[in-house]
Amino acid sequence: MSSARPGAVKHISSTANPIIKAARALHQRKARAESGLFLAEGHKLVVDALSVGWVPQMIVAVEPQSDADPVSQLAARVRAAGSDVIFASGAVMEKLARRDNPQTVIGVFEQRLAPLTHFNGGTVVALEAPRDPGNLGTIIRTADAAGARGVILVGNSADPFGVEAVRATMGSLFHVPLAKVSEEEFVKFLGRWRGSVVGTHLSGAIDFRTMPQEEPQMLLMGTEQSGLTDALAAHCTHLVKIPMAGKADSLNLAVATALALYELRRPYLG
Ligand code: SAM
Repeated sequence: MSSARPGAVKHISSTANPIIKAARALHQRKARAESGLFLAEGHKLVVDALSVGWVPQMIVAVEPQSDADPVSQLAARVRAAGSDVIFASGAVMEKLARRDNPQTVIGVFEQRLAPLTHFNGGTVVALEAPRDPGNLGTIIRTADAAGARGVILVGNSADPFGVEAVRATMGSLFHVPLAKVSEEEFVKFLGRWRGSVVGTHLSGAIDFRTMPQEEPQMLLMGTEQSGLTDALAAHCTHLVKIPMAGKADSLNLAVATALALYELRRPYLG
């Protein structure tokens, strides 16, 4: 993407710099909600984002040693797209990343959510109030790998734009459309959905391996704590169980999603 005016280059070595303080605040959900921004750490993530049209508002990066340094090339792309590049000292990078050995690049991006009208076919994953950001990021990554149309977060969910969730997506956040809706909006949407709604439930009567795999299909996963609520289970066309042979009382949410999603998508994968 090109812009009439290239972004500026700034050099920051003070951890008290207000730009760094504002970016660091994005570790907190409140600051992300207020600003509509989020942090994505890592050279690869920022390159992936740019390649699919997500231009960062700015990047903060370790000063490159030469023009051949990949950070120099990335900085040039970011500036050409009209966004600012901040070259920061190691101490500033650590402060911003809130950890030792931070990544060489951290991007600040605008959050994007898709409208429910986007989810009009294919295989869609819906998650009832997922709480664990690592699970959420892993599911977004899995949805990307399996070729799902997107992920719908229903109710009071972990923030997909939190640093831990973004990290767990490994860049898939930039490829997978996401929606966040209330339970009420979701139930209305299901009324218009023209396909199966496959709920995964520990008391499901159907073995998940026997499901017809025909798009459009919606895979609905329950909460980590207490499973799919009765209110949402009532809207499923099928309630399936993943058989378990040992003493575990359930599978981890992200693992269960991966198993069920890959089974539903089996005819559509090479
Ligand atoms: N104690 C919870 C319960 O009673 O359902 C366990 C929830 S489990 C950690 C998180 C979600 O993964 C469940 O709501 C369900 O959607 C799915 N899940 C996990 N194991 C499953 C299994 N064996 N069969 C079907 N769904 C499963």
